[in-house]
Amino acid sequence: MNWTPEDEDIEWTKNVLDSLEMNQDWMEGEMAFRRTGENTLTLLTRTERAESAIERVKQVLSILEWELAEDDAKIIPDDPMAAAEAMQKEAESWACPECNNVRVVDMNLEQGMWEIKGETQYVDEKGESQSHDRWVVGIACDCGATVHLSPDDYYLVAGDINFYTWHMYDGDALYCLRVMPPEQIVECVDSDIMEQITASHLGTTFQGNTVPPHMRGTFCIMVEASPAGEEE
Ligand SMILES: [Zn+2]
Repeated sequence: MNWTPEDEDIEWTKNVLDSLEMNQDWMEGEMAFRRTGENTLTLLTRTERAESAIERVKQVLSILEWELAEDDAKIIPDDPMAAAEAMQKEAESWACPECNNVRVVDMNLEQGMWEIKGETQYVDEKGESQSHDRWVVGIACDCGATVHLSPDDYYLVAGDINFYTWHMYDGDALYCLRVMPPEQIVECVDSDIMEQITASHLGTTFQGNTVPPHMRGTFCIMVEASPAGEEE
């Protein structure tokens, strides 16, 4: 490959690296990295077509004397059908990292607990480094461990109904909020059922909890739920 980084490429990358804390993620184009060492960046995923992009990153890193660990990187096929299939297949093989005994697809996926764990770093259109909350979904394994999935991974294994259901605590009580499809809202308004159920329009916070981004602006039905393991 005939590409030599410009001084500003090197400077730009250096600024990003300097701002990354340990275990913080950095999304760049179709690549996702995590800082895993003093001078080590780990490639988490990239698309198949980001091959030359990753070569460029590698060149800049070597100038800055940083190492890129890419052996365990997930490569996403360019063909969307093949990508979906490969991801689905991989998701089915995920197991609890604690006991290595229970597959994630066999866990109680209905009761994923959304929480903020650290920050994700990204560079905006102006080239400035920004960060936003990194959300994870905790799933309880029978062994007692909590497995944390990224929102995308959770969507993949749990499907859209579970994805658009949010469990949150208000004091000691656990509540389940489920997004209501528009046609159901109309039906409910027409039939006066609204008076019998608790419906909420979610903003950024709800009863002291930060609302996960995908639930903001949605209209939800709220019911009291039983803690993990018990039937609702
Ligand atoms: Zn386990």
